Amino acid sequence: MSEENVILTCPHCGNKTLMKLLNKFEKDTRIPYGYEEAQFVDIFEVFECPVCKGFHLYYTNWSSEESYPENHDIYEDGEVLFPTSERVNLNRLPINIKNAYESALKVRNIDDTVCLLALRRTLEMVCKDKGAEKGSLYDKLKKLQNEGTLPPLMGDISKVIKDFGNMAAHGDDVTFDKYLVERMFSFTNKILEYVYILPKEMKKAQMELGRLSQEAKSKTTK
Ligand SMILES: [Zn+2]
Repeated sequence: MSEENVILTCPHCGNKTLMKLLNKFEKDTRIPYGYEEAQFVDIFEVFECPVCKGFHLYYTNWSSEESYPENHDIYEDGEVLFPTSERVNLNRLPINIKNAYESALKVRNIDDTVCLLALRRTLEMVCKDKGAEKGSLYDKLKKLQNEGTLPPLMGDISKVIKDFGNMAAHGDDVTFDKYLVERMFSFTNKILEYVYILPKEMKKAQMELGRLSQEAKSKTTK
């Protein structure tokens, strides 16, 4: 893909469109590798969205040590570095919860009410997945908190849940809605991180530590 034809989703307005390249920096790192050398390229590009005129910094990379399929689009694995927003590693979530969360992401910046409803549905699914099925969303989250599935430091859950309700009643106050959507994303992200991602990362870290100490042991006994 040539860089004049980069189609990306704008992090500001959500439009998927042909971006205008404003600036580009490429860091080319070469490391001796046997008789040859390995090449690692980090690419930083600033794009302007033709729809809303907002700009974003996009990061992509490739290396000579990886094999890519034909027609590989490096932009698909890229990452928005600016504007920053909290991100959840979707691949670590159970598939139904990933789908629900993704439908919220799809309408972020497009339809605030639909977005909030999708986030709420995501939270309801987390509660169900963890065995809290009775009562209001507040009751269920409280139950998970009491059981230790959620940390006691989640902040005031009742306040956050009330925001969901306010949202529907609020109508067309766009600025206020934007603020609420971001707040709800932040809250949902923290729950997803704590319930699904943190335990896996801890397990991985423990395995890694175990492997290292095993290696150290076998070295000293040799
Ligand atoms: Zn835009």
